[in-house]
Amino acid sequence: MELKKVSDRIYDLPAEERTDRPILGYIMGDKYSLAVDAGNSSDHVGKFYRELREFNFRLPDFTVITHWHWDHSFGTHVVSGKVVACHLTNEKLAEVQKWEWTDDAMEKRLQSGEDIEFCDQCIRLEYPDRSKIKVVTADVEFTGSITIDLGGILCEIREFISPHSSDSVLVHVPEERIVFIGDAESGDFYQNSGEYDKTKLGEMIKTLEDIDVDTIIPGHDMPQPKVAVVNFLKSERDRLCLYNY
Ligand SMILES: [Zn+2]
Repeated sequence: MELKKVSDRIYDLPAEERTDRPILGYIMGDKYSLAVDAGNSSDHVGKFYRELREFNFRLPDFTVITHWHWDHSFGTHVVSGKVVACHLTNEKLAEVQKWEWTDDAMEKRLQSGEDIEFCDQCIRLEYPDRSKIKVVTADVEFTGSITIDLGGILCEIREFISPHSSDSVLVHVPEERIVFIGDAESGDFYQNSGEYDKTKLGEMIKTLEDIDVDTIIPGHDMPQPKVAVVNFLKSERDRLCLYNY
């Protein structure tokens, strides 16, 4: 079994490098459960749900999308329960829904900069049959923040400024002193060649410093102590200042 226990009420299915599958989070309440991210395909969701069934856990009543990138959102059409996303994520998903997946259309998006080489390659690997790609928008759209009471445990879901994507959403679980941040700790590969925007990085460091947790769960890495993530981000900010980006 690959599902990992992070705390009493939080588990995750670790990220997989081959097709850039992110961590899928699972938060268990007394009444409802909530998943963080929908993964990159129906196969990814299927694997996650098989693991949940093996643990005799209920399938998610809610799935929160941390940002629109394909690896976090293309499994949305097969998840159980309701899907929650911020308005910016939904806006972008509505746009991506219109994309075609022929070689020609994919090539054009690479040339226009709408998509990037790394994602293009991983999508081809995850989807030997690209007619299976189906993009849908979320059922519940919010602006600012939304709190869901799962029964005995709250999930505070909110938009925040991050250098990775302009529609970043975090999922804070105060009772467990844990926050999921999607890919927010990495640079912007679509608009900024993977580099950090110094101002957005500074804003995010402040957000993470202010949030009262012990553990941060990034999108493609193991759960980390908050202090380690913040120190890493500060060293990146210092590097940018040094080279005056
Ligand atoms: Zn991302």
